[in-house]
Amino acid sequence: MDPPLLVRGEGSWLYDAEGRRYLDLSSGLVAVNLGHAHPRLVQAIAQQAATLAYAAPSLFHDKRALLAKALSDLAPWPEGGRVFFTPSGAEANEDALKFVRHLTGRFKVLAAYRSFHGATHGAAALTGENRRFPAEPAIPGVVHFFAPYPYRSPFYTQDPKEEAQRALEHLERVLLHEDPGRVAAIFLEPVVGSNGVIVYPEGYLEGVREICDRHGILLVFDEVMTGFGRVGEAFAAQRFGVVPDLITFAKGVASACVPLGGVLVREGLARRFDDTPLPTGHTYSGHPLAVAAGLAALEAYQEEGLFARAYRLEAVLRDLLKPLEAHPLVGEVRGVGAFSGVELVRDCRTKEPLSPWHAPPSPAMKALHKALLERGVYLFAKHNVLLLAPPLTVGEEELAFGVEALKRVLDEVSSL
Ligand code: PMP
Repeated sequence: MDPPLLVRGEGSWLYDAEGRRYLDLSSGLVAVNLGHAHPRLVQAIAQQAATLAYAAPSLFHDKRALLAKALSDLAPWPEGGRVFFTPSGAEANEDALKFVRHLTGRFKVLAAYRSFHGATHGAAALTGENRRFPAEPAIPGVVHFFAPYPYRSPFYTQDPKEEAQRALEHLERVLLHEDPGRVAAIFLEPVVGSNGVIVYPEGYLEGVREICDRHGILLVFDEVMTGFGRVGEAFAAQRFGVVPDLITFAKGVASACVPLGGVLVREGLARRFDDTPLPTGHTYSGHPLAVAAGLAALEAYQEEGLFARAYRLEAVLRDLLKPLEAHPLVGEVRGVGAFSGVELVRDCRTKEPLSPWHAPPSPAMKALHKALLERGVYLFAKHNVLLLAPPLTVGEEELAFGVEALKRVLDEVSSL
């Protein structure tokens, strides 16, 4: 089957030019949190286009101000935060990179090896995996470290608690070698997103926060994937009770129906920009169509109770997916909220990935995608991990249909 030529989307479904439909089990790229063609968003964009389609970022604009206020109210800081809009998640991380250097006067930044922060040069430099290679040599001053990954422990531990402890000791050691006094920030996805839906063991994020505090280092959570209900709260910061200094966001803020991202900066920190302004910005930062969609999205999340719904979906996904661990191709099922990862292996004992890292997808992985599409299911996978992150509006029977298709397809590709 050729890749489908998509022409339409509605709710959890994508439709191709021949009228076939595909359940979008990954919300596109973990982004369309409200499902496709949400009527409230469609209407907001159309209305805004007819009213004021563009206003320079330096000018005041009603919906831009309203969305900034609403996001500040959602932020995990009692004092609120300031928002700096960008068109994308990568640009949000680019801006955050400039902000932390400007605010601390320090130059180095640390990021995890198994991370993705975007495809522009600075964001690619932060990225820990092979998507940074095309940008190398990217930008200087970025140092990578290993974060916990209980299933394939970089620290050779068996126990998640020990994994968290060893990872924190490792981070301390890296900092010591870099001189913590030169480190502006640590960038971290609070749940590793495209690189495998890795939920850090308890104590890790708290430990990173404590290390940052001790050394005057800023903590940046990249919540481009985890924000806006994906893990059951506005931000993963709230889900895990660990508060960063900056949050970068995109995707779910407007359910991906417009290009919109941004950086949230803790108010106490952002105040320093008043005395030492930082010249930056993009033509499309806080574009009126984008912020109108963002406001409508926040209203929809609230009215439909969708952040909380992710807790229900967490239980449904666990019940549907955990039995898959008995399948010889499934190494581990893991996740939090409406965000699950299914790690596929050739052999559960050796844990050899079904599709190798740093190489094109294996024939088995290609066959799996093809067979899923034939059964009417779209799933985003990175290397050997399937990302199940349905729209928060998905029906439970839709999820059951998707997981049943996955089960059958795993049987079909077992022999390849
Ligand atoms: N950070 C994370 C955690 C992401 O998952 C992504 C996109 N997958 C980005 C940043 C980059 O966002 P964008 O594609 O909007 O530039």
